[in-house]
Amino acid sequence: MTCALQEGLPSLGVLFGNMADAVYLLDPITSNILWCNPSAHAALGLEASEVLNHSVLSLQMDVTGLPQWADIARVIRGASCYTFLGRHRHKDGGEVPVEVNTTAFALNGREYFLSVARDISRRMNLEGAASTQDERLRFALNLAMDGLWDWNMRTDEVYFSPQLKRMLGYGPDEMTPHVDTWKRNIHPDDRDQVMSLIEQHLRGRLMRFEAEYRLRNRNGHDIWVHDRGQVCERDAQGNPTRVVGMVQNVTDRKLLELRLERMASIDDLTQLPNRRAGMAVLSHQVELAQRGGLHLCVGVLDIDAFKAVNDQFGHAKGDAVLHQVATLLRQTLRPCDYVYRSGGEEFILLLPDVQPETAYAIAADIHAALECKDWEADLEMGALTVSIGLACFPLQTPASKLLDLADLALYRAKEEGRNRTCGPLEPTQAAVTRSGRQ
Ligand code: GH3
Ligand code: MG
Ligand code: MG
Repeated sequence: MTCALQEGLPSLGVLFGNMADAVYLLDPITSNILWCNPSAHAALGLEASEVLNHSVLSLQMDVTGLPQWADIARVIRGASCYTFLGRHRHKDGGEVPVEVNTTAFALNGREYFLSVARDISRRMNLEGAASTQDERLRFALNLAMDGLWDWNMRTDEVYFSPQLKRMLGYGPDEMTPHVDTWKRNIHPDDRDQVMSLIEQHLRGRLMRFEAEYRLRNRNGHDIWVHDRGQVCERDAQGNPTRVVGMVQNVTDRKLLELRLERMASIDDLTQLPNRRAGMAVLSHQVELAQRGGLHLCVGVLDIDAFKAVNDQFGHAKGDAVLHQVATLLRQTLRPCDYVYRSGGEEFILLLPDVQPETAYAIAADIHAALECKDWEADLEMGALTVSIGLACFPLQTPASKLLDLADLALYRAKEEGRNRTCGPLEPTQAAVTRSGRQ
């Protein structure tokens, strides 16, 4: 960088040294800064040594890691000039809004990125004093929110604000401004609910659109957003033609909530739902069965002579047995069945939409799976059996008493010698094999 341009003119080094914009030469693979001009580090309050050979990601507040960098690098290679609006981290902890233009080039068989970053804080302040009310409003909302969108329903074009794009890991020139871009990024499990909410708002059934859902960012990770929108323009017939909305990134709060929710509803030892969560599902299933006249069977499963396992092998081994029984139950039950730990060595099985014969067949499968399990090899202990009490609706009524009825049946199974299933059918009727399952 020190070669002379032309005799009498300053060298390139002097020119770059006096340049107001920050210039970085980057290694596209490692994201390391190979060279930079003085403005590049001075603008961030850093020494050259604190920047050179460090990853450019250490300066960037918007690019979260190497996978995202690799993704962006692919776009840079394909673009003649890639523009990114982002924030650089200042040594004093503040942030510097920057517009970065990056070009890719190769020299002597090696690939480089050349980035020119411009501090745009002044421009942003000027934008704050934007002339039209619309622009001023947009700017103010942009600062308050993580993103804005503006949907022209006549063309399905959508304006995504730079903040919204940045939140999703995209540069300002990316994301096709179309409503399908947004729809595609909604998590498949949330899409129906989100679309139904916006539909209801558009049809006037809801005052505004408001939803909390997951959006996929450019890394393929999901971020949780709180999205609020409202129709702001209509045609002469009153049909909505324009909807604007604001999006907030609520990922941290949502993940914490989900973790707390999970902690409150999952049994630590077996990772099955606990009694509290299970009872809620049970009452929901009972209501569904009653309302729709659907079959529902409830099973209470209790490990036989479990106290002896603890006494003989210790409490830790007892815990391991509980964990393995839970795993075996999950593997043996159908995907639509539900199992939870109601306490101690007792589990509740909820078998929706099954005839009593099938419930007995499922119970028979559980006895068989326990018998086949090599407890000696797994836990250095002898065979383990369980007793199961079944109750079935509509054979037995009311549905709200199924759990009590199943408990009574379990009591009978214990009385009759354990390692068996008792319920509403006579033993001959209940003599079903695995193939008897629906
Ligand atoms: P039965 O065949 O009549 O069911 O006999 P049982 O020994 O299984 O029944 P009992 O109710 O006498 O004993 C249940 C035992 O389960 C007593 C208790 O120490 C043990 N237990 C309850 N919760 C846990 C647990 O979380 N871990 C371990 N290791 N043991 C537990
Ligand atoms: Mg027991
Ligand atoms: Mg018990």
